[in-house]
Amino acid sequence: MNEVVIRRRKACPIDSPNFEELSQNETAGVDYRILLRQAKAEFAIVAPHGGGIEPGTSEIADAIAGEEFSLYDLEALKSSGNHDLHITATRFDEPMCLTVIGRSKIVVTIHGEHSEADGEGVFVGGLNHILGTSLGAALKDAGFDIRKHPDPKLQGLEPKNLCNCGTSTKGVQFELSRSVRQGMFSSLSREGRKHTTARFGAFVEAVRSVLVEQTASLTSNASG
Ligand SMILES: [Zn+2]
Repeated sequence: MNEVVIRRRKACPIDSPNFEELSQNETAGVDYRILLRQAKAEFAIVAPHGGGIEPGTSEIADAIAGEEFSLYDLEALKSSGNHDLHITATRFDEPMCLTVIGRSKIVVTIHGEHSEADGEGVFVGGLNHILGTSLGAALKDAGFDIRKHPDPKLQGLEPKNLCNCGTSTKGVQFELSRSVRQGMFSSLSREGRKHTTARFGAFVEAVRSVLVEQTASLTSNASG
């Protein structure tokens, strides 16, 4: 006789009801909006702190996802105080986000960090070291300053971190310094982010090239 197996998805962020708190204090469609695209491919690109929280991350995630990869973006829209909408990456429990990442093998999160001392650093973290290394190498070739973040809390190594909550339980987290994001747009204001630079294109293309290549090899392994 078959046993009924209730599959609980790992110890991912469902234990901390922080989105409930957010949604009690902020109005959907006014203070924030959620952009969601579900694609067939194995990767989901996630910007949990988009819009005015970590400016530039929404636009970068959207462009990386393109049509091939799933996208989840929580975009804060307030004229000030957007940090109120920051749910830490190990407690991010917005239900649509959990649905998208639960259907994706590998999650790549895009964050922005703020230290002025970090120059143009692109900090690669997460538990998928193989993919992280490939992405880092492609970005280095494209002229980016690839580093490991000195703060262990910004290395994406916690199993509950969103980036590690795809079905493979190992993903990649990017922390982009303020300077590197600034170089991708005419400015980091809402208006400035409508105008991207060649650096934006170079970053997006480098990441996409690796993900597209990996998708092709995952598909050929599955069929062969
Ligand atoms: Zn973040």
